Amino acid sequence: MPAAAKSVPSPLIPPAAPRQAVRAGASAAHKALQKMGLRRDIDLALHLPLRYEDETRITPLSSARDGQMVQIEATVTASDVQLRPRRQLVVQVDDGSATCELRFFSFYPSHLKTLAVGARLRIRGEVKGGFWGRQMLHPAFRQAGGELPAALTPVYPTTAGLPQPYLRRAVVSALARADLSDTLPPGAEPPVTGFYRKNGLQRLCSLREALTFLHHPTPDVALSTLEDHSHPAWQRLKAEELLAQQLSQYQSRRERDRLRAPVLRPQPAQGAALPLHEQLLAVLPFGLTAAQRRVGEEIAADLARPVPMHRLLQGDVGSGKTVVSALAACVAMDAGWQCALMAPTEILAEQHFAKMIGWLEPLLAALGRKVAWLVGGQKKKDRTAMLALVESGEAALVVGTHAVIQEQVRFKNLALAIIDEQHRFGVAQRLALRKKLAEGVAAGPPQGDAAPPGGSDPRSGGAWGHKVPMEPHMLMMSATPIPRTLAMSYYADLDVSVIDELPPGRTPIVTKLIADSRKDEVIERIGAQVAAGRQVYWVCPLIEESEALDLSNATATHADLSEALPGVMVGLLHSRMPTAEKKAVMALFSSGQMGVLVSTTVIEVGVDVPNASLMVIEHAERFGLSQLHQLRGRVGRGAAASACVLLYSTNDSGRVGETAKERLRAMAETNDGFEIARRDLEIRGPGEFLGARQSGDALLRFADLATDTHLLEWARELAPRMLDRHPELAAKHIARWLGGKSDYLKA
Ligand code: ADP
Ligand code: MG
Repeated sequence: MPAAAKSVPSPLIPPAAPRQAVRAGASAAHKALQKMGLRRDIDLALHLPLRYEDETRITPLSSARDGQMVQIEATVTASDVQLRPRRQLVVQVDDGSATCELRFFSFYPSHLKTLAVGARLRIRGEVKGGFWGRQMLHPAFRQAGGELPAALTPVYPTTAGLPQPYLRRAVVSALARADLSDTLPPGAEPPVTGFYRKNGLQRLCSLREALTFLHHPTPDVALSTLEDHSHPAWQRLKAEELLAQQLSQYQSRRERDRLRAPVLRPQPAQGAALPLHEQLLAVLPFGLTAAQRRVGEEIAADLARPVPMHRLLQGDVGSGKTVVSALAACVAMDAGWQCALMAPTEILAEQHFAKMIGWLEPLLAALGRKVAWLVGGQKKKDRTAMLALVESGEAALVVGTHAVIQEQVRFKNLALAIIDEQHRFGVAQRLALRKKLAEGVAAGPPQGDAAPPGGSDPRSGGAWGHKVPMEPHMLMMSATPIPRTLAMSYYADLDVSVIDELPPGRTPIVTKLIADSRKDEVIERIGAQVAAGRQVYWVCPLIEESEALDLSNATATHADLSEALPGVMVGLLHSRMPTAEKKAVMALFSSGQMGVLVSTTVIEVGVDVPNASLMVIEHAERFGLSQLHQLRGRVGRGAAASACVLLYSTNDSGRVGETAKERLRAMAETNDGFEIARRDLEIRGPGEFLGARQSGDALLRFADLATDTHLLEWARELAPRMLDRHPELAAKHIARWLGGKSDYLKA
């Protein structure tokens, strides 16, 4: 591979602009670099080309095909500024094999000089036309002659104000300066597989070789191996990237293992005969499933350890995660600690609140404690009262939205945080959460606990006699199953418990695909369900571009259904409604008075109305599969046979309707959330699962979990060993690859 850092010839530079403009441009370009996160030399070195241009050869004009990017050398035979139909510079060139017309709609006086008749130029651009006259629009050019470059010219991802030539120069000098020394421990080479292994390749190239090559590959490379990232140089980079991710996760797990957390064991509170969780089990109208008992024990074992739990509780919609979390909360509350339960939407938080009040308030009242409620749109008076309950410790459990972790909230002694539908929280929110929680627990043990006397330093958990930071236990819940490769890569630092069984007595939901031209039949069916005492959801899709449109759509549907179903109470729920109104609507639906609830996707997560037996999803083709699965999970929660109707649009061109239908068939074929998640991952990539839409940073840039499993497995195996035996190499590797971003991977 060529030592490109030195020998890269300057690529063709578009016509020079006047000097002042150049300087202003350079400072703008510098800013743009910073904005793209290309701050360090290594960032630039890892900024890889999107594609390449071949400037290594001169093509005779006569053999250039229409639409081909070519480089020619030709002599100017005519050069004119035309004023019609608009001002433009038109230049004729001839390379001996054929002629070509160059057109420039913007040009400086200096261009006229370079493009004067008789000048011999090296020109690069896309040839249009053929036999009847060739043309290039705004080609790059400079004086002919000089050596041809030995390597392909990289074309980088860039933004406005950051021209390719500037970026190329920046990368070349960064490559020369950057420390690219090997961070892999001796004997820890990434594996060579497939085609290259069969052809005898023993080891992948070094990082330096890989980067040098990928920025300036020799023209003999098979471009397809660069495009599909199968080239050994790409393999090397992907291996390193995955290793950085694994190292960072194992490291954060180890850091967490060094932290302290309250040791929580079930024991009756003072004056009580039974521990809270046993009291709760006694009043529940159902017995736990075997799966619920098993995950409950896994959680209990974590809580009894002096290090913070960091566990993800997975279970398909309706599998009964809430009660498991309530039982965990009981253990913490028994010992006088506080718990927080956070949900991504107010409606869901409200449901949890109602449920927790029902289950726990009578039990807590005997201990003189309460359940508090915190959401964004709360009345000031209520809020102040709730904040006081939290601060004094009287609130044993705090339920709410992300308002639970806002600035003014002061926990007295938080021991357990439960986060429902955790993937719906953004990465930044999850980071803020951990910070907040650390403050909460730092306040130390509850009254009456065996805290050593002599004051406390809250930041260090000093009351406990050790100088280790305290963190509460964290229980995250999600109904979106994470496919195995994703779990291995992004959630390597989490423990996972899975509820793999639904409570007994549920009849499977029947899913039907129906063209929206048959809406009337569906409405008839709704009438029949309501007449039988059942309830129905009708979900209208979110229209991303326009919330107003979204709303008008839902409003229109609401009007239609109200008219078509006389005598049935049809409600409307959407995200723009005032909270009080939302609550009123939900209350009417929960109580069974309202037969049909038309809503935008606000009901997506967690809503639990067991009497609802029919879910209609309009424009189902606009939803992701996992989202559909969540929505479908809103029915089939009671004993009644339930159905989900996916209405798909047929007014798009027939073919579009057909592919959408094909995709939706997955929904009809399986009720298995894992299978659906797997297909969804194939279709939409990992972002959706990680809730990382706000931070592309946390995502892998080069590796692809679908094809690079062998590299992921290699990285997973190596990371813990490397942290043990080569901590300095590990630290260097993480810093090189993740810089300031490793925090995001911990969220
Ligand atoms: P999810 O896991 O989707 O959050 P929920 O916790 O909302 O599910 O539970 C779904 C419904 O099943 C609730 O009405 C809940 O009270 C009920 N449920 C939970 N566990 C059981 C069980 N073991 N037997 C019967 N019903 C249960
Ligand atoms: Mg739930």
